[in-house]
Amino acid sequence: LSPLLVGVYVNSFMLHSSYLIIQRIKRILNVPVIVGGPHITTLPDAVKELGADYGIIGEGEYGLLEIARYLSGEIDNLPDNIITRETTSFDGFTPSIIEDIDRLPFPFRSTRNRKIYYSPFYRGPVTTMIASRGCPFRCIFCASPLLGRYRLRDENSVVEEMSTLVRSGYRVIQFQDDAININRKWLYRFCDLIVQRGLNKQVVWDCNVRIDLLDLEDLNILKAAGCEMIRFGVESGSNYIRNEILKKGMEDEKISIIAREARRRGIKTLGYFMLGLPEETESRIDETKEFIRGLNLDYIDVSISVILPGTRLEKMAVERGILDPSIWKRLITQPLDMPCFYQMNGLNDLRSYQRKLLTNFYANPHYILHQVVDSISENRLMTSVRSALLLFRDYLRY
Ligand code: SF4
Repeated sequence: LSPLLVGVYVNSFMLHSSYLIIQRIKRILNVPVIVGGPHITTLPDAVKELGADYGIIGEGEYGLLEIARYLSGEIDNLPDNIITRETTSFDGFTPSIIEDIDRLPFPFRSTRNRKIYYSPFYRGPVTTMIASRGCPFRCIFCASPLLGRYRLRDENSVVEEMSTLVRSGYRVIQFQDDAININRKWLYRFCDLIVQRGLNKQVVWDCNVRIDLLDLEDLNILKAAGCEMIRFGVESGSNYIRNEILKKGMEDEKISIIAREARRRGIKTLGYFMLGLPEETESRIDETKEFIRGLNLDYIDVSISVILPGTRLEKMAVERGILDPSIWKRLITQPLDMPCFYQMNGLNDLRSYQRKLLTNFYANPHYILHQVVDSISENRLMTSVRSALLLFRDYLRY
């Protein structure tokens, strides 16, 4: 490969590895490096610290094209959302947003490397898609609302892309939208089209949802269209933390009803939970443990909440003296942990709670038996064994 330029996606979790990759690209290839992504959009001065040449503020597809045209001499000036390593003032740079995301072509997916993409939950070639960008909600820990307003693709185009993927041999599609069910009318049109074109019999798919926006009819429609699993953020079993602190806007009862009814219809459920949130106490973590137990989900993920730049959680952490904003620069050149909002006794305590919650859930003999039976009946026992081993390896790392 001898590229003329290299683009690197940068988010706040990967600052140091992005820095190391950029140094290596510069050393080996010595070509212009362009960075973009949520961290650059929120903190554009990271372009220089990372050692990159150009940064794109906002969505990057057209910006990348413009930089290529600029470097080839086709145009004399860069658009407003592009900065260079010499830029010192960031006033007046507006994040670019692609209003009509249907203008974008379908992403290139190399079929040669299809086997390296797999999911612990399914058997068969897996790929990802998105049907929308952005999220209209405003949870205080989340950077998604900072990156542009909510936009949806035309459902015909989304289903056409699914159909192309099926023809290329993919059997599982994981939708990575923040939540696929923000617009119910769109969701119904989308699911109808899938059924009309018979894709529900050729591919299984799953998606992130706002569980509070789902009703029983939505679950029926999703199931009929081949939706195999819904994934959703619950964050905390404490109603106080979830709604008063995080501004999630989701009541316990609604979460419980929809999770139960989804399973009843054969739609699997994956709930995301976080520890280390503001106002968290041992008893509120116990509430999370109990809530998880009562939900009877198929899978859970428990993470330790980190602070992201530009979020209201970051503002709260700075105001309370928990976060020194200079951390974002240090994270680039030093391999440090992401900043967290501890109210407990520190990271070790949180890790031990995290281990406990995961062990309670996954090491439960009923759960294991249920998973073995499911895996055999769905002909994916080896996939499940491999996933269990990966999970165990991660568990040992905590
Ligand atoms: S956590 Fe989910 S629902 Fe909340 S703002 Fe982020 S993407 Fe939207």
